[in-house]
Amino acid sequence: MSDGPSGASEDAVGRTGEFEIISRYFRPLAQGAPGALRLLDDAALIAVDAGHTLVVTTDTVVADVHFLSDETPEHVADKLIGVNLSDLAAMGAQPVAYLLSVALPAAWDETALRAWLEPFAARLAAWQAEHAIVLIGGDTVATPGPLSLTATALGQVEAGGELRRSTARPGDLVYVSGTIGDAALGLLAASGKLAVGEAAARVWLIDRYRTPRPRLGLGLRLRGIATAAADVSDGLVADLGRICIASAVSASVEVERVPLSPPARALIESEPTLLRSVLTGGDDYELVFTASPDAAAMIETIAGEIDLPLTMIGRIEGGPDPAVRLRLDAAAFDAGPPGWRHFGATA
Ligand code: ADP
Ligand code: MG
Repeated sequence: MSDGPSGASEDAVGRTGEFEIISRYFRPLAQGAPGALRLLDDAALIAVDAGHTLVVTTDTVVADVHFLSDETPEHVADKLIGVNLSDLAAMGAQPVAYLLSVALPAAWDETALRAWLEPFAARLAAWQAEHAIVLIGGDTVATPGPLSLTATALGQVEAGGELRRSTARPGDLVYVSGTIGDAALGLLAASGKLAVGEAAARVWLIDRYRTPRPRLGLGLRLRGIATAAADVSDGLVADLGRICIASAVSASVEVERVPLSPPARALIESEPTLLRSVLTGGDDYELVFTASPDAAAMIETIAGEIDLPLTMIGRIEGGPDPAVRLRLDAAAFDAGPPGWRHFGATA
C-alpha cells in the first residue's frame, strides 16, 4: 500500500498499520507455501508441474453491489473464493493458490476491522483446507468507498487439456451438473420477493444462493471427455449462450429436462412464471458442458463417482447465428440472442 494524495494514514488501516493487518490476518494463511515468502517479499513465486499450464482467473466483489452490506464476513469469503474456484472448475484446472486484495473502508475503526477480518480470515482458512490452496500475496488498502475484495485464483492443468468454451461441436449433447435455479429462487426469497412456505426449503434455497460449491472434482474429471464447458454464474441461458457464441454453434434445450431441486419444482408448480428466473437467474455455480454422444456412459459413471447428478438437457446444432433455443412441450421458442437475460416471449 502507498499513502494516497490525501494521506490515508489517518484512517484505521493506516493506524493499525497495513503491515500489522497483513501479519495478523493474512500471514497465517500463507503458511505452507514456500513461494509466498511469508508475505515479506515484493512478489510470490509459483512452480507449475512439468507439462502443465498455469490457469488464472480473478473476481471482485463490492459491498452493496455483489453482496448486501449486512452479509456476514463468512458469506463474503464464500462468495469471493467460490466464484474464483468455480472458474477454475470450468477450465478443468486443479486449484493451487490465490492472491487477495482488500480495500477496507477508511471509516472502520480498529474494532470494526478486527470484527470483520477475523471471521473472514477464518473462513478463508476453511476454504484453503478443503481445496488445498494457499494465500500467496495480495494488497491491503484503505478506501473512502465501500468494502471491496478481489481474489485471483491460480490453478494448473496439463498443457492443452483445459476445458474451453469455444470447442463445442454440432451433434454434441448439452449437460448440466446438480440442479439449476436454486440460487435465483434463494435470492428472491432472501430479498423478500418470493414467499417460500416451507421454512426448511427457504433456508436451503438461500444457502444455495449464498454458498457457491465450485464443481472442481467434476471439472477435473471432464478433461478429455467434455468438448466445452462453462460455469453457471450468470444463468443457464446466458452461460450456455457464451459457449454457443465462442463455438459459433446453437444449442437446443428441452426445458422439461432441466434438473430442478424438489423445492424449486414445488415453487414452479404453484407459480409457473418462476421458470424464467430458474433458466436465466445466476449464482448456481454448476457446470454446463457439452460432450459427444459417445461419452454418455462415461458421464454417467462420473456422476456416480462424485455423487452429483449430471443431466443431459439438449444438444448442440449448427446454424449461422449462435442462439440458445428453449423447447417446452415440443413448442419451440427463442430465448433471444445468447447472453440475453430476460424472456421476451411467454414461456
Ligand atoms: P508492495 O508495496 O511491495 O506492493 P505491500 O506492502 O503491498 O508490498 O505488501 C507486502 C507483502 O504483503 C506482499 O508480499 C503482498 O503480496 C502481501 N500482501 C499485502 N496485502 C495482502 C493481502 N490482503 N493478502 C495477502 N497478502 C498480502
Ligand atoms: Mg502493494
